[in-house]
Amino acid sequence: MIDSHCHLDLPEFEPDWQDVLSSAVSKGVERILIPGTTVSGWQRQQDMAADNAQLDVAFGLHPYFFPDEPDNALAALREQLQTTTIKPVAIGEIGVDGAIDTPIEAQQALFEAQLEMASEQSLPVILHHRRSHHLLLESIKRSRFTQGGVIHAFSGSEQVARQYIDAGFKLGVGGTITYSRAQKTRQTVANIPLQHLLLETDAPDMPMSGRQGARNEPQFIGEVVAALAELHGITPEVVTEQTTANYFALFGSRTQCK
Ligand SMILES: [Zn+2]
Repeated sequence: MIDSHCHLDLPEFEPDWQDVLSSAVSKGVERILIPGTTVSGWQRQQDMAADNAQLDVAFGLHPYFFPDEPDNALAALREQLQTTTIKPVAIGEIGVDGAIDTPIEAQQALFEAQLEMASEQSLPVILHHRRSHHLLLESIKRSRFTQGGVIHAFSGSEQVARQYIDAGFKLGVGGTITYSRAQKTRQTVANIPLQHLLLETDAPDMPMSGRQGARNEPQFIGEVVAALAELHGITPEVVTEQTTANYFALFGSRTQCK
């Protein structure tokens, strides 16, 4: 199993992230991708990945945190991509958040600047959405972005899902589908062929059904696999095998830079 979206670098995991990683590995998690969110986080991600071959990293500027970032954040991202000792597998987590105060135009400009960097680097992207599918799809189209990526924590209709798939994206599937009340997303995920899906936890957020109130962890990703297997009427082994293949097809695997 691969956790394609886990914020193992956040303060919630600071005291025990190595134990969290070991627990995940002992439950069969073979890789974890840590998306980037802020300038100050990239170095920590790089340090964590340097000592742990199971960790992949992406660097990016998350719209939610951007208002507190330094003015030169985009230049810093460009520099990070040139100087990193760990090759990122993607640019992310980037996107547009329709539930924050930052003006949409400014968010789209930041998003499109990062799409352009991803194109220059021939890297896929990790997308964040909240009430913003139409805005993300608009920016992707306007930027003529063709590197693909993943729409993280996908929720929405099958019609929207198909638009992302047509644009070269996979759908990130996490704890949401473990809740029986999440009917719309469960229905969408059940109707989309497995080859377009990736597993994720979004830990420490998005706890699985029955674990509300507790910190989410990558070791619980088997619960997403079980829910997905049930929705598709197949075995958990087939889900694991196909989603792992999907991950490597999209992201490859990181290599050490010199
Ligand atoms: Zn995230």
